[in-house]
Amino acid sequence: MSHRPPELSPVAPSLGALSPVPAGDVHVTGGFWHARQQLTTEKLLDHCDSWIERMGWYDAFRVAAGQPSGKELKGKLFTDADVYKLLEAFAWEVAQRPDPVREARLAELSGLVAAAQEDDGYLNTFFGPRGRDHRYGDLADGHELYCAGHLLQAAVARLRAGVQDALTTTAVRLADRICEDFGAGGLSGSDGHPEIEVGLMELYRATGEVRYLDQARRFVEQRGHRTFPHHAIGDEYYLDDVPVREATVLRGHVVRAMYLTAGAVDLAVETGDEELLGALVAQWENTWARRTYLTGGMGAHHLGESFGKDFELPPDRAYCETCGAVGAVMVAWRLLLATGEAHYGDAIERLLYNMIATSPNATGDRFFYVNPLLVREPGISTAEGEAPFRKDTLRASWFWVACCPTNVVRLLASLSGYVATVHENTLTVHQHVTGEIVTELPDGREVGVDVVTDYPWNGVVTARVTRSAGSWALRLRVPSWATGASLEVGGAVTAVEPGYAEVAREWSVGDVVILRLPVEARLLHADARVDALRGMVAVQRGPLVYCAESVVGAQGSVDLDRFRLDERVPLDSVAADGPSDAAAAVRVSGVLASAETDRRWPYEGSPPVGPEEAASPTRADVDLVPYYAWSHRGPSTMRVWIPVQEP
Ligand SMILES: [Zn+2]
Repeated sequence: MSHRPPELSPVAPSLGALSPVPAGDVHVTGGFWHARQQLTTEKLLDHCDSWIERMGWYDAFRVAAGQPSGKELKGKLFTDADVYKLLEAFAWEVAQRPDPVREARLAELSGLVAAAQEDDGYLNTFFGPRGRDHRYGDLADGHELYCAGHLLQAAVARLRAGVQDALTTTAVRLADRICEDFGAGGLSGSDGHPEIEVGLMELYRATGEVRYLDQARRFVEQRGHRTFPHHAIGDEYYLDDVPVREATVLRGHVVRAMYLTAGAVDLAVETGDEELLGALVAQWENTWARRTYLTGGMGAHHLGESFGKDFELPPDRAYCETCGAVGAVMVAWRLLLATGEAHYGDAIERLLYNMIATSPNATGDRFFYVNPLLVREPGISTAEGEAPFRKDTLRASWFWVACCPTNVVRLLASLSGYVATVHENTLTVHQHVTGEIVTELPDGREVGVDVVTDYPWNGVVTARVTRSAGSWALRLRVPSWATGASLEVGGAVTAVEPGYAEVAREWSVGDVVILRLPVEARLLHADARVDALRGMVAVQRGPLVYCAESVVGAQGSVDLDRFRLDERVPLDSVAADGPSDAAAAVRVSGVLASAETDRRWPYEGSPPVGPEEAASPTRADVDLVPYYAWSHRGPSTMRVWIPVQEP
């Protein structure tokens, strides 16, 4: 395997339960995620590139480099980071799917970034060139170190591909500048928006330079001591209310919380800090159990883009920023590698299918920003080519604040790096994708499997051994919802429990393992403490959350405000109708409540008359579509949680 880069992985811990199989060893060749990788290659990368140019965010670098652009400077405090996230996506992309045109564009943009760097290594187009403030003059809100962290992650993608270029040199010089400025005897404090921590930790892993780890530790440990100016919506906005190792749950701004946690997990793993790791595991588990929507989305408050309290999960007010899901994948993958526990793979799957896949449209030129679970009026459409200020629109070409599109694209470009792991004599496949995995076990033996599946549309995952040497174990993740799953090896079928289905034996090339996951649609009820979801159910089919959608102008659309689902009628999987980018819809049956008559005051002493009390209730069927495909057919009202008909 000498032809492959040593570690083409977004995260490469030196310790932990599992080691990632590099993206270069995982060739996704068909199915659900291959389509999205293709969309990334063919549309999303260029779409982001052209929009960043159009918004003038590259011009900020040109001006900083002393190249008068003749244009009015645009972009905000944090738009350097969007440039870096796109460069990271380019780096993952060219490492796996070489393309001389893309490689040349990456080199051109890397040269531009390098040219904007100041002589002493400092780099930010907002501070200095535009004279906003002196360097580090506004650590709480200036986003300087946040932007720097994204540059470091982009450089790590290059280094992991075995490349050293203008981008990596620039990033190392900036990291050295930051260590100089914030190291022992230097400035105290850190950035109001975490990200530098995870960037420094991964750069440490990629270069072995211990000062980056030391600096990341300083940033993590300084946090939570109320060193930032008090924020109007509370110190938790900056994660400055409680030290990282003392917190019990994630709170405040979701994306900030996820990025900080990702960097802190890296720090805990590399330093063997079990206390810190334990605290971070508890924070994740409490957050996942009490502050996460069915889709994996997080953030119940638009104000401060933040978590609500435990079980405060209103579907219509869900913020669920796409970036929060990208951050949650970063954290869950790190915790999976650290602990080896399968439920982190489940979380990643939920986030990928129901948040990440939801972001781009089917043609790769529009994105969601926030992701509510209930939309009462057809959403706000934006014109082609418009970058709206508000974030609660339907998918838009771009956004005035456009953190999400480049974040999704860098994840999709590196997705093959989140599929499988090795440890001891074991290869584990965590995400069921069609393609071939050929990699090395820790002892250097080469093993390989070819996986074929129509997952998530059906639950049959067939893995055929393509490389083998002696005895080793193959594990396939069995999602927590998959009760009744089975594994067939050499014609013998055994029941397997959620977790990992494992077979350890002397494998021969051509041996076949078939995992069967029951993906039939099922009804879900929320914890009773989620007040906003009482009396309602949702439908999940395999890993996919489904939703009811009333498309504007569509024939036969049901008034979703009046629909009450009848739990006694079995769910029925049916072929999806219309261009919803989905192979299966789920038909649910129920009744229509009589239309409410408007009153002066909506509250009365007796409960409203239910549809079941009407002489002949009107029955109706609704075909649910996967949540990720909602609004693919145009503006619509939408519900994930559906009221049930009273028994
Ligand atoms: Zn975002």
